Amino acid sequence: MEIQIIDKTDSTMQLIIRGVDTSYVNALRRTMLSEVPTMAIEDVVIIENSSILHDEILAHRLGFVPLKTDLDSYNLPEECPCKSEFGCNLCRVALTLEAEATDEITAVYSKGLQSENPNVAPVSGKILIAELAPGQKIKLEAYARLGKGKIHAKWQPVSTCSYDSEPQTETGNNSHDTYVLSIESTGALPVERIVLEATQILDKRFQDFSKALRRMR
Ligand SMILES: [Zn+2]
Repeated sequence: MEIQIIDKTDSTMQLIIRGVDTSYVNALRRTMLSEVPTMAIEDVVIIENSSILHDEILAHRLGFVPLKTDLDSYNLPEECPCKSEFGCNLCRVALTLEAEATDEITAVYSKGLQSENPNVAPVSGKILIAELAPGQKIKLEAYARLGKGKIHAKWQPVSTCSYDSEPQTETGNNSHDTYVLSIESTGALPVERIVLEATQILDKRFQDFSKALRRMR
């Protein structure tokens, strides 16, 4: 196998993979989409909401705000020793939002979300959450947790993850063993971390499989 990075920025990466088949590239792609965890808001306690948005809509919008993810400091809730449905400081990050419109219409953006951990905060402060008319107010507490894209799309670490097989080259290489993989991070994790996490998850899956098989002999 041969890998070549042809384009890379903070949030995107394009690489050529030679000497593999479709199932290999697709397994990598599927794992990035559905198994690499990120942080997203999961529970919202509405203290006050006099905006025109229903509480459920507000909570839904907050869930889709991509959060910078500190994968090394937090546990997936199902793997955390606390075993608590409310979580602990190893599996949960609290964020607060308080906004009020006094004399003019006021837009509430993601930058208003104050996190207890600066390493877990909105990727962008410019995401519109609500608009408040004079006299309206929002006050809430939100709890972010690690989760996986297979449970809910809000936990997907990538906004794009696709591959194309490369056309036949003049060197006569078999066109079906060369793929261009394009990945764009939501900003939750650095793009190379997403790829590396996916390879480790696949690696662990195969190790678990071979251990299970050996136990049956
Ligand atoms: Zn916990």
